[in-house]
Amino acid sequence: MDFEDSPQEAAFRGQVRDWLGQHAPAHELTGLGTISDTQTVVRGRAWQKTLAEGGYAGILLPKSLGGREGTMAEALIFAEEEGHYNLPKGPYVGIGLAMALPVVGKHGTPAQIEAFAGPTLRGELTWCQLFSEPSAGSDLANVRTKAVRDGDDWVVNGQKVWSSWAHLSDWGILVVRTDPKLPKHKGLTFFVVDMKTPGIEVRPIRQISGASDFNETFFTDVRIPDSCRVGAVGEGWACAMTVLTAERLNQAGHEGSVADLIKYAAETPGPGGSALGSSATRMALAGAYAEEQALKHFQSRLRTMVSRGENPGALAAMVKLAFASRYQRMAGFAMELRELAGIAHTPDDTATPGFWHDYIWSTALRIAGGADEVLRNQISERILGMPGEVRADKDVPFDRL
Ligand SMILES: Cc1cc2nc3c(=O)[nH]c(=O)nc-3n(C[C@H](O)[C@H](O)[C@H](O)COP(=O)(O)OP(=O)(O)OC[C@H]3O[C@@H](n4cnc5c(N)ncnc54)[C@H](O)[C@@H]3O)c2cc1C
Repeated sequence: MDFEDSPQEAAFRGQVRDWLGQHAPAHELTGLGTISDTQTVVRGRAWQKTLAEGGYAGILLPKSLGGREGTMAEALIFAEEEGHYNLPKGPYVGIGLAMALPVVGKHGTPAQIEAFAGPTLRGELTWCQLFSEPSAGSDLANVRTKAVRDGDDWVVNGQKVWSSWAHLSDWGILVVRTDPKLPKHKGLTFFVVDMKTPGIEVRPIRQISGASDFNETFFTDVRIPDSCRVGAVGEGWACAMTVLTAERLNQAGHEGSVADLIKYAAETPGPGGSALGSSATRMALAGAYAEEQALKHFQSRLRTMVSRGENPGALAAMVKLAFASRYQRMAGFAMELRELAGIAHTPDDTATPGFWHDYIWSTALRIAGGADEVLRNQISERILGMPGEVRADKDVPFDRL
């Protein structure tokens, strides 16, 4: 939907449409689920390379990282237009762009930026996020994977879990404990790690859907050179927060688009011809549109804060919370429009394209990158000033917990 575009945005949209019309069709995926994960990543890298050649890789990333330094509106316009094609987009390229580059850009050395920014933007390097552990999810500061300094290297031992696409990633962003004598948030250090380093074992986790895009990642005496440390020793928590803030603010996809829903409602039978004949449907869509606009402008505001060097802190939690729950409501609403046919959808049914998948996937998004309850805690404590949770372990040395 482009009726609200400013003249500059309309010009950008036209330019993007033309460019996508020339380049996207050759990269489209056909027949969902018919290609392997390996092939999906190969296709994802190729599309990322094409985006880089066209100047559309990393629209929101700063020019210092080789990005376009565009506006939130441009990112959304690009995502909307790109959403008209079935392109190989996913965490296999997204983690590098939305998580690795922001942390390397903010806390890394010029040599690290030089080594990683260009290749990641061009799809030559893919990344995984090695944060969560069996006893460190919402409580990320509880990580037990440890790194001990040995000459110019660090020797890492421990286990990570839920490492999306680690089985096919070139590099990982890793948070580990380097000083167990300090309280839990203070003894952490951040690294980038080459996933081919001896001692790293990635074991895929088979999901109920049949897919295996998550992994357990084991580290046994893995040697990481100190040149791969990002930020100072002990600055791991600040680096991890940079990653999580960037991840939360990057929820700028086409998911839950009201334009798609309106189109879908117009094609769905209902009173007077289509579901749009129902005033209840029109009211719901109007509400969804207002929410979409509010989220877009709020995201823009926070991204402006980041580009000025300010830290949006818990405000980023609001974006993630609103985005994931809204995405789920939009998909649920689309399914309801077709009543029983929407719910009884099977993967080969093309009548409810995408929304059925979106509904299930949005459940995972309400956990990944910060579960709803944890984000609500952050908002209540840090924005609304409500009493904090009792955290008896906060100031206790980690090895005494
Ligand atoms: C799709 C997906 C992709 C992921 N990809 C990655 C990845 O690539 N790399 C990676 O490192 N991790 C990844 N994760 C893991 C993700 O970061 C964790 O699942 C998340 O942080 C929650 O941690 P947990 O699963 O251990 O749940 P827990 O922390 O055990 O939480 C379980 C439940 O308890 C609630 N809860 C926990 N603490 C509190 C509290 N203080 N107050 C109120 N309620 C609370 C939570 O909200 C949740 O409902 C991914 C997860 C998903 C779903």
